[in-house]
Amino acid sequence: MVGGGYVGLEMAEQLVHAGLEVALVEALPQVMAPLDSEMAAWLHAELRDHQVALHLADPVAGFEAPTAGESAAASVVRLQSGTRLPADLVVLGTGVRPEVKLAREAGLELGACGGLRVDAHMRTRDPRIWAVGDAVEVRHAVLGDWQLLPLAGPANRQGRIAADNVFGRASRFEGTYGTAILRLFSLTAACAGANAKSLKRAARPFEVLHLHPGSHAGYYPGASPLAIKILFAPDTGRLLGAQVVGRDGVDKRIDVFATALKANLGVADLAELELAYAPPFGSAKDPVNLAGMAAQNVLRGDVRLAHWQELTAPDTTAPFVLDVRNPGERAAGSIPGSVHIPLPELRSRLGELPRDREIIVACQSGQRSYFAARMLAQRGFNARNLTGGYRTWKTATAGGPPRQPT
Ligand SMILES: Cc1cc2nc3c(=O)[nH]c(=O)nc-3n(C[C@H](O)[C@H](O)[C@H](O)COP(=O)(O)OP(=O)(O)OC[C@H]3O[C@@H](n4cnc5c(N)ncnc54)[C@H](O)[C@@H]3O)c2cc1C
Repeated sequence: MVGGGYVGLEMAEQLVHAGLEVALVEALPQVMAPLDSEMAAWLHAELRDHQVALHLADPVAGFEAPTAGESAAASVVRLQSGTRLPADLVVLGTGVRPEVKLAREAGLELGACGGLRVDAHMRTRDPRIWAVGDAVEVRHAVLGDWQLLPLAGPANRQGRIAADNVFGRASRFEGTYGTAILRLFSLTAACAGANAKSLKRAARPFEVLHLHPGSHAGYYPGASPLAIKILFAPDTGRLLGAQVVGRDGVDKRIDVFATALKANLGVADLAELELAYAPPFGSAKDPVNLAGMAAQNVLRGDVRLAHWQELTAPDTTAPFVLDVRNPGERAAGSIPGSVHIPLPELRSRLGELPRDREIIVACQSGQRSYFAARMLAQRGFNARNLTGGYRTWKTATAGGPPRQPT
């Protein structure tokens, strides 16, 4: 399978279900580009768990005939690294580009991304021609730039808007949030709005929060952890984007985030949303509420965050990392160089902590370390909370040195 976008991932899953031995080749260092790397890492783990051979950051260089000793009914796929993948079937899922020959010949305006340019009424430069769907460039509703976002929802809404305008009703298309969802084996991954990569490119200030709440109340059977990332404006708290990965309840959380984006809500609004709760479905503090509350804690200055990228290259200037998990969790793996003091012992062991160094506190998900960071700050220590905790750090750094988001 060549291409690790939505279609390539869905295809890889089905090929595995069909009993085939599958390799997935992707030119980028991660699959599903709309996710940030540490969120895509959950998909990498799921693929490897299902014996999909993952070749990341290794574009296809050519298709060749098998040499002696190679068996390939279709072709040998040669990668840039030199790796040769003999294949009985090669599926290309490397994305779509608008076919604009007709539009160009008609003198219509094209944008820098190669799609047709239309106004908010979906009208091209020629007042008698409207254009919608995968062929048109759209304004990203958070970032404001022109993009190609080939998704079915925007295409359908644009069709209705164009029809309105053809018949004289001036309805407008207000842009696209890139809301998307994917199933990969037993995982679901979804995103809406801007990601860290695009916000950095646009030089937009943002804060990031990771959390791992249960899909529903823990005392009701069958809950599983969600990995949630939200991005928000550090001054106003306006929500800028959200990414959710998990085995249950991903679809409803991303749709709440997508609705919040459309309504221009801030993290304080997320904390206040009154979402349906009974134990099989959610928690009294829904994961969306929790995301808002944890972000409020940051905006109010109650806690300062540390991020997994800061803990990837320990050196002499690296911060002091304090692990407050219980011994069983610690035994299953830890951040190299971290010092272990379980949260219940912390108050009585403060003398073991440095007062002249910054302390980054970590637990499994970022909740107990929040309590610890608050306690330490109130006692005069310089402490920050590792957002997403060991779970985010471990996933993000699995499979070799992680790359900084670009
Ligand atoms: C495998 C796959 C899975 C997808 N899954 C999802 C998903 O889960 N969620 C999601 O949001 N999006 C998904 N998409 C994207 C979604 O299908 C597109 O964004 C959407 O169909 C775009 O609508 P459209 O009308 O622009 O183009 P299309 O739906 O492609 O329709 C264009 C039509 O125009 C016809 N046509 C082309 N040229 C001419 C011509 N010269 N004359 C006459 N007719 C012509 C084509 O035959 C086609 O029927 C998926 C795409 C693929 C390929």
